This record gives sequence, C-alpha cells and structure tokens, in this order.
Amino acid sequence: GGVADRMSGRLLDGRELASHLRRELAHRLEKLVDPEREAGRPQLAILRDGRSEAAAVYAASLERAARSVGAGTRLVDAVEAGTERGLEATVADLNAEAGVAGIVVAQPFGDVAAGRRLVELVDPAKDVDGATPTNAGRLARGEPAFVPATALAVIAILEAYGVEVAGKRAVIVGRSAVVGRPVASLLVARDATVVICHRATRNLARETRRAEILVAAAGSPGLIRPEMVNRSAVIVDCGINAVPGGIAGDVAFDAVAPVVRAITPVPGGVGPVTPMMVLRQTIEAAERARNAQPSEASISSSGTDPSMNPSRSIVS
Ligand code: NAD
Repeated sequence: GGVADRMSGRLLDGRELASHLRRELAHRLEKLVDPEREAGRPQLAILRDGRSEAAAVYAASLERAARSVGAGTRLVDAVEAGTERGLEATVADLNAEAGVAGIVVAQPFGDVAAGRRLVELVDPAKDVDGATPTNAGRLARGEPAFVPATALAVIAILEAYGVEVAGKRAVIVGRSAVVGRPVASLLVARDATVVICHRATRNLARETRRAEILVAAAGSPGLIRPEMVNRSAVIVDCGINAVPGGIAGDVAFDAVAPVVRAITPVPGGVGPVTPMMVLRQTIEAAERARNAQPSEASISSSGTDPSMNPSRSIVS
C-alpha cells in the first residue's frame, strides 16, 4: 500500500508524499553507510549567498531534508568564502572530495552572473539539482540526467498518486530553466503531448482549458482561475508567491479545487517534495560513485536514473 491508496480523491498531498520519501530514502542511504566508518555517509554541499533570503530559505530546507534522511551537509556561505576565486576553488575542492556526493548552488546569488559561473564549475556527476548546462542538455535530449528538483517533484507527485501521463495533453504555464522547461522535457519523455505557455501566449485560457494535466509555474498568485480549467484536469501548482498572510500558489485554489479532478495545495504540495528530490539524486550520485570504484567497476551506472525511466514508480 503506497501513498496512492490513501489519496483523498482530490488533494495531491505533498507533505504525505514527502514523509513517505523520507523513510524510503533514509533506508536507502543507510545501505551506503559502513557502520564501522562513518566516512561512507554521503554529504550534500550547499553553497549559498547569505545575503539572499530566497537562497537562504532553500538552503535551510535542503539542510533539514538532508538531516531527516541521514545525509551529512556542508554549508558554504559565499560571503564568508570571500572572492569569486575563493568560491571557485571551493567548488573544485568539493568536486574532488569523495565524501561529497552532491553539490547545490542555492540561487539566487547576489551577483547573478557569478552564481551562474559557479554552477558551471560543478561536476555534472554531483549536480544533484540538475543546474549545470550538461545535465540540462542531457535532459533536453531525453538522456539520463540529474534534473532540477522542482520539476522532478511534479513528476513524483503525478506518479505517486497514480496520474497517468502517457498520451495525455499536458499544458505548462512557465518556461523557466528551473521549472517550466525541465517539466516539459520530463513529460515529453513520459509520452505526454506538451504545450508550453508563457508571457507572450496570446490566449492563455484557451490553452489551459484543454489541459488534462496542468502545471502552473508562472510565479503569479491566483493566475489560474476556475474558468481556465476543465473538470477532468489534474493540476500541479509550483507557485510559491508571498501574499499578505502567507504564501499562495499560481492557482486560485479555493475556487479551482472544487471544479477539477485533483490538485496540489500551496503550501503542502510541490514545496515539501522538492528537497526530497535533491536528496534522492544525492543518494543516486553516492550509489553511482560507489559502484564506479575500481573494485566494482563492472557495474554500469548509465541509464539507471529513475528520473528518466517512465516505468519506475517512486511509491513502492
Ligand atoms: P520565472 O519568473 O523564472 O518564470 C516564470 C515563467 O512564467 C516565465 O516563463 C513567464 O513567461 C511565465 N509567466 C509569468 N506570468 C505569466 C502569465 N501571466 N501568463 C503566462 N505565463 C506567465 O519563475 P520560476 O523560477 O520558474 O518560478 C515559478 C514559480 O514557481 C514561482 O512562484 C516560484 O516561487 C516557484 N518555484 C517553486 C519551487 C518549489 O520548490 N516548489 C522552486 C522554484 C520555483
């Protein structure tokens, strides 16, 4: 019995899925740790610019998630590390260090261009938030890749709650490199027919009304209104927007939830699942690194990324 068995029918509960994933990942991680030598415990390195509040919030959620599954963390503050050169040297060290399984550069950086340059230095094999051009290219080509965690969380929710994707018409609102585009690639890889909408889309409602799966990633609170959806739609809302009194998604939840088949809430939908996807990819990176050691060189790691394997369900 997985999460899907307890699904309420309409609400795609990200918190429940996150706690299921936490147990599954903690179990998987322990198999990597040699009880005699704590050295085998995979570490997630997080680089962040402490001056950016959004980056600090993301970094903190990754630290919490890492701890909850038993992974170690290494927090590097860009300001403390000093110069860009110093940070580049830090990334090179983390790339080389065997105990560091994953590296995340929490965006945004105060200096956006410097943040982007830093990401490009991360070893693609440790790029557990799918931020490097190498992994983005692999994903766009339909090859096994580390994927931006939010995009992976969208797929994890659909899979966990048994939402069929193959052959379905999926509409994505948003074309960013961190959410919209990678979600589109993942859905295409799973045989959906995908439409990507953005600010220049002429008649957004006409597109969204045709969606059987609607992914909102626009960063615009309440953008999706009930007249823009159809009754058979499954909606995944990636929006995290600060509004008076808390955070809101891109979907006008109270009005839309009653008129669709299923929907993620905000908060409590995509948000809690996202850091678990970083940890899942960190554990995958650690497993591959271990399997790539000379003594076990015969084990191939290519093609095993579940993020690219449409048949694999994350709910056992
Ligand atoms: P972004 O600003 O980089 O991209 C927004 C995209 O939406 C753009 O492609 C833009 O063309 C499109 N868009 C904006 N307004 C639109 C409109 N009115 N009609 C049609 N298209 C429109 O944002 P992003 O980084 O992709 O983030 C999107 C949302 O997801 C934000 O609310 C962000 O906070 C949230 N987010 C959530 C997570 C998570 O873990 N759940 C992670 C990253 C981002």
